[in-house]
Amino acid sequence: VDELGIDVDFNKGTIVWQGAKDDGVVFAGIRWGQRRDWRDSQRLANWTGARSVGIARMGYWVWDERGGDGALSHWQGLSEVADEFGDDWRGELPLAVDVEKAPVSWDELRQFLLLVEADWGRKPTIYSGSWILEELAPLPEWLSEYEWWVTGYNNVGPDVWGPFADLHPTVVCWQQSEDWRVSWSSAGYVDRDYWQGDLGGYLMPRVVNLDDLVAWLDAHGYECEPPAPPPIGAAFALASPLPVPLSQHRISQEFNANPQWYAGVGGHDGVDFAIPEGTPVLASHAGKVTVSGYRPDRPTYDPYGDHVRIEQAALDLDGQERVYTTIYGHLDRLDVQVGATVEKGQQVGLSGGVGSRAGNSTGPHLHFGVVCRGAQSRGETFLAGDFASPWLWLKDLPERVISAEIVQRRKTLTALNIRNVPMTDGSLVRRTMAVGVTFSVYEVRSGWGAIDFSRTGWSSLNPSYSGVA
Ligand SMILES: [Zn+2]
Repeated sequence: VDELGIDVDFNKGTIVWQGAKDDGVVFAGIRWGQRRDWRDSQRLANWTGARSVGIARMGYWVWDERGGDGALSHWQGLSEVADEFGDDWRGELPLAVDVEKAPVSWDELRQFLLLVEADWGRKPTIYSGSWILEELAPLPEWLSEYEWWVTGYNNVGPDVWGPFADLHPTVVCWQQSEDWRVSWSSAGYVDRDYWQGDLGGYLMPRVVNLDDLVAWLDAHGYECEPPAPPPIGAAFALASPLPVPLSQHRISQEFNANPQWYAGVGGHDGVDFAIPEGTPVLASHAGKVTVSGYRPDRPTYDPYGDHVRIEQAALDLDGQERVYTTIYGHLDRLDVQVGATVEKGQQVGLSGGVGSRAGNSTGPHLHFGVVCRGAQSRGETFLAGDFASPWLWLKDLPERVISAEIVQRRKTLTALNIRNVPMTDGSLVRRTMAVGVTFSVYEVRSGWGAIDFSRTGWSSLNPSYSGVA
């Protein structure tokens, strides 16, 4: 039997570890920290709690160079947390190093991995996913010496494709679901993982190639019951986030524009409206405020600057249950607090775009973004494919308020063969459908059409999406 585990950080709140044990959890990835100075607030409670009930522990450290931290400063941060744990610092499983943030200086990362190996007396595991490893390619050869904990987030299977697949990775652990609904996490959910094989004494039968992994999935996959969906509202639609017709504002940057500047997400991930500072910004839909200010994991700099995010579970255009998040970036004043419920049209702040807390902004504007994901929230970490064009849901606005250019784009129909496009969920489809592209379905599972990229990474969508051939 493959071993059931979880991974937790401060986002999951307080964990009642006996509850996890009772549900069959035998191992846990526990976030320690990130960079030089960031520490997970639940690290000690989780580290001692898991031990107290005999759950095997795997600390994990997030590699993050964005503030200039290299191997030594990451290692210093890690060592200080290890010191806090006294004699109990090692855990039962190898430390994992989370590599999912660009950029990565491979020599620095390798230095850090070697320092960790020297401390632990065994190689760390690397947590990552194909989507980020593709961005980071070309990948150095030495990565194939490590064992991998692979992101999945989809109940379907690990996404192993592209440059990552070319490494022929040894996959020891798979993050299956980001939203296993449980009563023993105060957040109400945890991330669910599977270890490939027996953990006893850390004797892991290795999954040495992708064929084995796929065979394992065929034999054991889909064990996780789909989580209960949140209450679903009506079909999602967006009102204007600005009090005056959008046609009166210049669009200073369109969705998906300038991929050279947004390597991490493939292009600009929202629409920028050039508006004067101090313009009221309105909730484009009802929902719950999940961010107001900087994101908690970016305490010193957030590219969106002070911003507001609103989350709402609702039906997609096609009747599918989704979780939407709208992002109102670069605000000069915040009028709502995290956790608040807002109504459509409610003022959430005043626009900005200049000043020390404007984030990645070169002048006054509102950045308006939409994230559309599966039926469950998984916090504020989004994949590139989660971002969708706001115009998809703004399209019910009277056409007179939409620029002629946008109207024209909607009418431009093209066909695109996306078999080889490395994306992990249907939002690529939605995003691209927003400009009228059609798709072909290559496989059908469980009533969902699958766009099968290579058998090692695939996306799914409901075949009843209009335009799917
Ligand atoms: Zn923007």
